[in-house]
Amino acid sequence: MRELTVQIKRVQLFPIATPRQTGIANQHVIVKLEAGESHVGWGEMSDLSHVPMYQFDLADLARMLNELLRGKDPRNLVKIEDDLMKFYPDEGHLYSRSGLVRQGIDLALHDLVARLERVPVYDLLGGKLRDRMRVCYPIFRMRSVAEVEPNLQRVGEQLARGFDLIRVYVGTNWEADTQFLGQFADRFGDKVQIKSLDFSNLLDWRRATMAVERYQELVDFMLVESPAPRNDFDGLAEFRRRCRRPVSEHVLHIHHGWQLLSHGCVDILNVSPYLLGGLRASLRLVALAEAARASVLIGTTQELNLGTAAVAHLAAAARILDYPGDNTGPHLYTDDVVKTPLPYEQSHLLVPEGPGLGLEVDEAKLATMTTNAEWTFGVDLTGVIDRTPQNRPSPTA
Ligand code: MG
Ligand code: MG
Repeated sequence: MRELTVQIKRVQLFPIATPRQTGIANQHVIVKLEAGESHVGWGEMSDLSHVPMYQFDLADLARMLNELLRGKDPRNLVKIEDDLMKFYPDEGHLYSRSGLVRQGIDLALHDLVARLERVPVYDLLGGKLRDRMRVCYPIFRMRSVAEVEPNLQRVGEQLARGFDLIRVYVGTNWEADTQFLGQFADRFGDKVQIKSLDFSNLLDWRRATMAVERYQELVDFMLVESPAPRNDFDGLAEFRRRCRRPVSEHVLHIHHGWQLLSHGCVDILNVSPYLLGGLRASLRLVALAEAARASVLIGTTQELNLGTAAVAHLAAAARILDYPGDNTGPHLYTDDVVKTPLPYEQSHLLVPEGPGLGLEVDEAKLATMTTNAEWTFGVDLTGVIDRTPQNRPSPTA
């Protein structure tokens, strides 16, 4: 029997840190939402180990979210989203803290409401068009040729685990890039595909153009990502005019998506719930791409299982989704808060079928991970260096 009135009672935030296989640890915030007599929903604010170098005051944030949400009907997703947009507005950069707050609440709300209705989250989004999404494994940016061989070995290891698709972060060390791509072609050319070469906004459009002209002599790849500095619409459009491969860029907010499309900057919108603030905001960008006859891929910041499950439900319901996604966080981290991780099959993320997001949180484990969370933010800069240009001043150098 459907309950007529359900009210949100409490929001709790749990900081955790999980190491990646590559050695660095990332910080996340797990969100627990309680409503009515016994309803619970889980979400996450994914991967806080990024610039800008300041962090949430979690006690403050929890207090504010409780003020905002307590007593509200969790099923009124549009109303809560509208409120959150007012208090956590778009910030316009790739690691928007506001976007992460809205992501955490949006995911927990969808999980809670879908559990309450005893349906998978994709049902709340209208149903499903697909039950899996092809995803790629990341090869992170090489700063020296010494990193080439370990990365080639990593490709081999991931191939053995079923991943036959990678994306490669490039643009810092041309020698390392060309060595990697050339040897990749020799060793894996017939077994593993490259989804994208990702410049992460590090080069201007002309340098990125020259790099791609060189790299495409060595390997095949599906698309190029972020080949101009951040917010350089003219440079991005210039690159795209000269490049025969499709170009994608991360969408920061809905108006940014409109700008990218109307300025002719991209073929593909890189849509991410962590950045846009959850599932509803992401679906609006998918509709915008559809209106512009553009393509969509789902990007990542490296979500844990909860955040990746949300991506799977988004993928299930997205009308436009014509390139593989980047969502292999659960394979990248060595630990998580869920009892059973999401299923992957041959480079595909499978859409979970259970109620809600389809995952069970191990609360005892979460408590241990929160207690033991070493909040290294601002101390260990290794975690943020991946997105940092080589010439940027660093407190450690
Ligand atoms: Mg990217
Ligand atoms: Mg990240």
